[in-house]
Amino acid sequence: MSVVENLEKIKQNIAESCYNCGRSTEDITIIGVTKYVSVERAQEAIDAGIVNLGENRKEELLEKYEAIGSRANWHFIGSLQSRKVKEVIDKITMIHSLDRKSLAKEINKRASAPVPCFIQVNVSQEESKHGLAPEEVEDFVHLMESYENVKVAGLMTMAPHDADDERLRGIFRQLRALRDKIRDKHLPYAPCEYLSMGMSNDYRLAIEEGATHIRIGSSLVG
Ligand SMILES: *Cc1c(COP(=O)(O)O)cnc(C)c1O
Repeated sequence: MSVVENLEKIKQNIAESCYNCGRSTEDITIIGVTKYVSVERAQEAIDAGIVNLGENRKEELLEKYEAIGSRANWHFIGSLQSRKVKEVIDKITMIHSLDRKSLAKEINKRASAPVPCFIQVNVSQEESKHGLAPEEVEDFVHLMESYENVKVAGLMTMAPHDADDERLRGIFRQLRALRDKIRDKHLPYAPCEYLSMGMSNDYRLAIEEGATHIRIGSSLVG
């Protein structure tokens, strides 16, 4: 399938989910996750009208950045080693995987302007997943006050692949409740307005539960 066809289907699904819960499709940002595909396929996504691309490895981000550059907004969605921050920091629009103080410190040091970051939360508490435990997040947010180049834009999670709809909704709801709690503190360094949740197999539910940024790979470019 062409990216254009895939995107059309995804947009229909987004419209349906938004309709189901009384939201506007304008509130949903699609991030095309190109980590599995070639530069050409990423280019095809751009031509189809995708504006935001997500990569989870530094090497691939730089390779695609070389070809596509500022025609896309680049999102870093994978675990980011501190020593790699300096090579990507001036190319990325948002980081979705802030999960530790040492990374915040490095971002703060290397960035020349505040970088909107999602704090990654391991809501499902799976051993294999990165992210802070939900109960650690509030204290972590408060630590960000001392890093002027780190802005807490929102919270991110990855849901388990094999969970049923009710479990998925539960996970998304929990992240949303945590987002609301932090947002309602009105901290200048942590507006925490956004929710990065939902992938190819669960974005419809995620939208119904409040997602603002959905990260779609296989069903868009796969
Ligand atoms: C790969 C990846 C995605 C996209 O997954 P699909 O199931 O292919 O849509 C989204 N978010 C993160 C963090 C990923 O690593």
